[in-house]
Amino acid sequence: MSKGADKHQGRINELNSFGKDLARRSKSHCELCANHGVKLFVHEVPPLSKQPEFEHCIFICETCQSQINKPKTLDINYWHCLHSSIWSEVPAVQIMAVLVAKSIAEKADYAAELLDQIYLDEDQQLWLEEAEADLAKKK
Ligand SMILES: [Zn+2]
Repeated sequence: MSKGADKHQGRINELNSFGKDLARRSKSHCELCANHGVKLFVHEVPPLSKQPEFEHCIFICETCQSQINKPKTLDINYWHCLHSSIWSEVPAVQIMAVLVAKSIAEKADYAAELLDQIYLDEDQQLWLEEAEADLAKKK
């Protein structure tokens, strides 16, 4: 295995070690769409730090994750779940919900309305800006 692949696997192992605590926090429901009884995945909210951080991770279902990983596949009919997750008390969940809402706001009126209603405190606003800058780099 190459060094890069080793490093990648190390990160995945570390992320998976958060699984138990994330399952407790989420009560085993997808933290974005509240789906349960399905396999949940640890997802890191950008920007990624050198070492995985629990506070930057959310626990989400495969459908949510695959759409987030491929923004072109975001289905506006699917994301009505943002109505509740955007108000999450978990900062990482709220940031991810805002990022998704922003990606679909042009096409989805409800997402634009949510963005009008949401108030982010200074720390959250800063995180959002860093996340957007990070995502823009990858485009
Ligand atoms: Zn989900």
